[in-house]
Amino acid sequence: MATVKGDVHDIGKNIVGVVLQCNNFEVIDLGVMVPAEKILDTAIAVGANVIGLSGLITPSLEEMVNVAKLMKERGMNLPLLIGGATTSKAHTAVKIEPQYDHPVVYVKDASRAVGVAQSLISHDLKADFAANIRKEYELLREERKARAKEVKRIPINKARENPALTDQAWLDYTPIKPSFLGRKVLDNFPLETLVERFDWSPFFQSWELHGLYPRILNDHVVGVEARKVFADAQAMLKQIIEEKWLTARAVFGFYPANRVGDDVEVYSDETRSEVIHVFYHLRQQAEKKRGGANNCLADFVASKASGVADYIGLFAVTAGVGIDEHVARFEADHDDYNAIMLKALADRFAEAFAETLHEIVRKEAWGYAADEALSNDDLIHERYQGIRPAPGYPACPEHSEKGTIWSLLEPDKLIGLEITESFAMTPTAAVSGSYFAHPEARYFGVGSLGRDQVEDYAHRKGWSIEKAETWLAPNLGYDPEDFAA
Ligand code: SAH
Repeated sequence: MATVKGDVHDIGKNIVGVVLQCNNFEVIDLGVMVPAEKILDTAIAVGANVIGLSGLITPSLEEMVNVAKLMKERGMNLPLLIGGATTSKAHTAVKIEPQYDHPVVYVKDASRAVGVAQSLISHDLKADFAANIRKEYELLREERKARAKEVKRIPINKARENPALTDQAWLDYTPIKPSFLGRKVLDNFPLETLVERFDWSPFFQSWELHGLYPRILNDHVVGVEARKVFADAQAMLKQIIEEKWLTARAVFGFYPANRVGDDVEVYSDETRSEVIHVFYHLRQQAEKKRGGANNCLADFVASKASGVADYIGLFAVTAGVGIDEHVARFEADHDDYNAIMLKALADRFAEAFAETLHEIVRKEAWGYAADEALSNDDLIHERYQGIRPAPGYPACPEHSEKGTIWSLLEPDKLIGLEITESFAMTPTAAVSGSYFAHPEARYFGVGSLGRDQVEDYAHRKGWSIEKAETWLAPNLGYDPEDFAA
């Protein structure tokens, strides 16, 4: 098993490893950021029966396709298991399985890994199991094709005539100027203040216990287990805080910015004469029958033509500084449970820090919602003004835009938060994104893109169309091969 090249997240993979080992499988875990060649070389060298790939971020999907292609090239016949947060049965069926002539199986969660692995190594079960999967994935591909034809997309130029905010809407709104321009660092942010901002539901999800906190604690199926991990979490939290296992750091900043087309220009100062960076955004192209807008994040920033002075905020936070030595200590003890617990809690601290920082930004640093008074539940349900979209999520699915945040904020230099070539953050307990203040700013999904927008995007970013299609792969509304010369 390995987390693929460019990716660093491994909580789910570790749980799969533990579950398989408990069922008498020998697991060789190659760790994170593992190149395809190393995965395959090792599998051959150790005589593995099955290869498992894991990944959290969308560029990893493409890397998994590469691994499958390479397995075919090398004439391998080992089954390939696919898992991790952004992977899906649909993606496995559409993109990965057709690349390889032997079983490729999507494993939704750790509890299914055992059944799948057992079937794939069983002389009696393997052939039927593989044939059923193949049939199921074939059907999925056909269904998807049929559904793709039903989605009506409009040309990007038409979509641009239907933005989230019209010129008229902008006349009714005057952007607030942030209390400072440029960036600021917060170091050693007090961990104990973050605990009250925890959103516990995703914590249980990381243990594959599904349900909403606090109800999950009394769930008739998973309640007992949920209470157990929750109690263990409380004990470890105390230690993390008292013994300072983790350090929380953030860098955030505000910049003069205006929209130009679907892009947001960032200026060096209030004269707005020098563009220092540009954020490139994507626009929904689905035909909107019920009068909705064809949203694009750039719509939430005042246009340059309007002459309105607007701003954008950026942030990067981590709570994972210092985690490695403690994880290593647990792993040296073969204590997978506590190693996973610590990683899951570090993630909670990072998310809570992002939430806390956003609150500081709204009330003070940007100060556009100085009088806000919301409960933790309100925050979890995002009942505040403005948004903090994160590259890789549906409104801004293209991960390389994170590079622009890194150019401006320099989290690598200032807070020790790095990005890999696939724009995964390390330490992994980290969150980054942009702040938009406009009261109408909303999350949405860009959805599937037409080739006209992909071409335009490539042109704006100075990329070849092939490069744009690779980075936008999960959102392409067409098959690039249909356009191949
Ligand atoms: N409370 C959760 C984290 C919030 S997830 C936890 O503790 O784990 C919600 C975050 O995901 C948002 O704050 C935003 O940064 C991002 N997000 C959600 N939907 C998005 C979308 N459609 N586009 C961009 N970012 C999105």
